[in-house]
Amino acid sequence: MAILTVENLHKHYGPIQALKGISFSVPKGAVYGILGPNGSGKTTLLGIILNVLKASSGSFKLFDEPATHVHRQQIGTLLETPNFYHYLNAVQNLNIAAAIKQRGKADIDRVLELVNLEERKLSKFSTYSLGMKQRLAIASSLLGDPDVLIFDEPTNGLDPVGIAETRELIKKLHKAGKTIIMASHLLDEVEKVCTHVAILQKGTLLTDGHVDEILITDEIVETAAANMQQLQSLLQHYPGAKKVSVNAPYVELTFAAGTASLEALNQYCFAQGVTLYHLRLRKKSLETKFFELTQNIK
Ligand code: ATP
Repeated sequence: MAILTVENLHKHYGPIQALKGISFSVPKGAVYGILGPNGSGKTTLLGIILNVLKASSGSFKLFDEPATHVHRQQIGTLLETPNFYHYLNAVQNLNIAAAIKQRGKADIDRVLELVNLEERKLSKFSTYSLGMKQRLAIASSLLGDPDVLIFDEPTNGLDPVGIAETRELIKKLHKAGKTIIMASHLLDEVEKVCTHVAILQKGTLLTDGHVDEILITDEIVETAAANMQQLQSLLQHYPGAKKVSVNAPYVELTFAAGTASLEALNQYCFAQGVTLYHLRLRKKSLETKFFELTQNIK
């Protein structure tokens, strides 16, 4: 089952095209990272899904059905740090949040335990560290035990300890079977906590899929020559290559990120009497992709 399916979503704010035809699908149980630099359209996308904004065109489904408020009631959200009352404690604040959400009144102790705020639950919100405030915000999103959670930049503004705490919590929720959709501008964060990723650049989806497939740091060079057997035995011990394999119609060499040199490889083959008619770097590392992506932002 797909938790969320987005089809050709467009959004413009007057002349500004914030989303230019986005399509992707979030499988059940995924931690789905929407990765992109500031202004790439992440918040706009989440806003549409949560009915805070209206799409200009395109559609999306929740739980394989056209989205209604009944579906949205099953989703816990953290869009920005909610305005908790500074002079009230965690339990009092969550009581108010549960009343507003109309769910989770009986759930307050459970969610406070989940986010490790049990011990400080009777302290005033004003005495909390930023990390604790963020954990309380996540606790609020967990009221009523929704199966799906949507977090916009959940670690924004936190110190390293707060970041680590929040990431651990996301992993814990994943292990408990929740589906989590989170926007982030941090490659490192997505790499650490997400199972899937969609990369946005200026309202366009660059790529999406399983993190293990997309966050490939190796570089693969495809080569071909008239005599493939000769080419294969020649490249078998090519210096610097981690792996040499036949993937018809090419002999492929795998290099660690940033170490493949097409020029050196071409020279090497030519010096050994083999002329390549195909030579191509097939996959760049995501770091490179992401670097290019952020460099392009004006
Ligand atoms: P950030 O991390 O900075 O919030 P983002 O990836 O979430 O970035 P959005 O906030 O969705 O991106 O913005 C996408 C584009 O739409 C940007 O160019 C932004 O300036 C523009 N935009 C967003 N909201 C509005 C609005 N209400 N009116 C006009 N333009 C807007």
